[in-house]
Amino acid sequence: MSDIAENNRIPVSLIPGDGIGPEITEATQRVVEAAGGNVEWQTVPAGMSALDTDRDPLPPKTIDSITQNQLALKGPLATPAGGGFRSINVALRQHFDLYANVRPAKSTPGVPSRFDNVDIVLIRENTEGMYSGIEHYVGPSRNAAESIAIITRHGSERIVRFAFDYARNHNRKKVTLIHKANILKMTDGLFLEVGRKMAEEYPDIEFNDMIVDATAMNMVVRPEQFDVIVTMNLFGDILSDLSAGLIGGLGVAPAANIGEGTCAIFEAVHGTAPDIAGKGMANPTALMRSAAMLLDHIDQTEAAGRMHRGIDRALADDATRTRDLGGKADTTTFTDAVINNL
Ligand code: ATP
Repeated sequence: MSDIAENNRIPVSLIPGDGIGPEITEATQRVVEAAGGNVEWQTVPAGMSALDTDRDPLPPKTIDSITQNQLALKGPLATPAGGGFRSINVALRQHFDLYANVRPAKSTPGVPSRFDNVDIVLIRENTEGMYSGIEHYVGPSRNAAESIAIITRHGSERIVRFAFDYARNHNRKKVTLIHKANILKMTDGLFLEVGRKMAEEYPDIEFNDMIVDATAMNMVVRPEQFDVIVTMNLFGDILSDLSAGLIGGLGVAPAANIGEGTCAIFEAVHGTAPDIAGKGMANPTALMRSAAMLLDHIDQTEAAGRMHRGIDRALADDATRTRDLGGKADTTTFTDAVINNL
């Protein structure tokens, strides 16, 4: 701790994770350093690699580190196969009550995609709804099963408020609340009621609501109509991958999971990509952009801006764009180009 106090760097827990995690983490650390990010990484294990080293996919020292720092950057994690292991990503969200999942999706020149004008921030409620975890078979024959969606006024209020505050703090103009209240009159109806009421407190932000099926169509037909989207757990899960698809896929999509206190965990949303792990081919864009979100979150906005600029420029050029996006570069060439373009 004394080193940290002396050099004034903000301590951040760093989970390299599994598969391509260590490669993209190292690339990201280089870029953060070069961009002037004032952070002190504390590397801690989680995932399959932690099962090997610590016999626990989520060791107590990792939880302790995040508890102390209240900030983490996380590479992709593999959940060990077989019974008894729940998703570590879900475990972290639950442990730290990270109720807000923030997924920006912005078109980048050079990245192959259907649109060049997407700029959406999707904010998903992360803790309740259809993913409340209350599910069972009906009767011993297991011929029927039921799942219970829990929507609370508290859960709805905090995520909708988060969305409006996010919009205000990031110079966004509009919040669209996505629901299915025409059918799910009580659960989604409550969420919509909370949204409509809270919109009155934010007269500077335009507000509308949209039914989820219409949203799915509108997002792929005219995505430029969306600015900030706020929605419940299940719809958010699906639509956030859809929004990543609009900008070139999961390889470029960053995310943040933010809690009520100060705790926040930033992550790449793609998986561990075991097929290319260790080959130096991985695209570190998603984790780099997540790290830039982290810097933005701790008010190191200039360093964050430099990172985004460097990434944009490296992605714009065939010679420095990674192969998964139709370019010619490996991880190191891309990372060098980001640093040269900061
Ligand atoms: P997991 O089991 O951890 O979800 P997965 O391979 O099933 O892993 P992803 O990791 O999301 O799922 O990968 C899907 C495909 O996309 C793979 O072919 C992978 O190589 C590719 N991919 C994913 N992320 C990247 C990346 N950052 N850079 C390059 N290719 C990637």
